[in-house]
Amino acid sequence: MPELPEVQGLVDFLRSRVLDLPVARVELGSFSVLKTYDPPVDSLGGLSVTGVTRHGKWVDLDVDGIHLVFHLSRAGWLRWSEALPQTVVRPGKSPIALRVRFADDSGFDLTEAGTQKRLAVHVVRDPQDVPGIASLGPDPLEISRADFGALLHEKRAQIKGVLRDQSVLAGVGNAYSDEVLHAAKLSPYAVAGKLDDAAVDRLYAALRDILTEAISAASGKPAKDLKDAKRAGMRVHGRTGEKCPVCGDVVREVSFADRSMQYCATCQTGGKPLADRRMSRLLK
Ligand SMILES: [Zn+2]
Repeated sequence: MPELPEVQGLVDFLRSRVLDLPVARVELGSFSVLKTYDPPVDSLGGLSVTGVTRHGKWVDLDVDGIHLVFHLSRAGWLRWSEALPQTVVRPGKSPIALRVRFADDSGFDLTEAGTQKRLAVHVVRDPQDVPGIASLGPDPLEISRADFGALLHEKRAQIKGVLRDQSVLAGVGNAYSDEVLHAAKLSPYAVAGKLDDAAVDRLYAALRDILTEAISAASGKPAKDLKDAKRAGMRVHGRTGEKCPVCGDVVREVSFADRSMQYCATCQTGGKPLADRRMSRLLK
């Protein structure tokens, strides 16, 4: 799933291509991908893109006051084309969920792999009309150390879940929360509200460092290269069984029903492997 750095990369990429370009039309390959009906998608035709921004993991194309907002979710992606085929995308006949065609026939397709369809597109007059945007917490690159500390202080949940909660911080997901916790030398199971000041300092610094580094790796890359850039930058996430680049211990994994997380026991948990909760549930 693309997280804040990849979405920022996509935003920068789109901005460099589509700013000031008129939209020719928006073609729907799947009716369920579009979550709104007013204003209609047809109202975007003929209007020009005046801005491309990011809200957490959402991309927001401002088309002269009407916003085309989308969230790629777990299996969605954006495919850019300098010259789209002339055939019109029709519902049910294509893996393409939505196509945005610009006046010069460049444009992009939103696609989604797998059976769980979670890709979401909204056409709204105000991005805050999208519930998933209105409920977002602050951007992790904009929050101050003091506000970050206050935010964690109230939380009795495990830090891994808190970092991924979009209403707490906007844009961090499963991969970057693993990376940030590894860099901050914190256990994913640590209770957020019980972290001492030194731990919050490390976490705050790691959050900014990891995301800033990943954004600079993503920016300037074409959309098709962003997934590989993300994978290449990971030190523990998705690297079960490989060596921790900091201490050389083996990277371990805890799996849940539909996802897994990776960590280094030497760096993060005082050398103790974490209980695999899926396994312990089975053993109960
Ligand atoms: Zn380590």
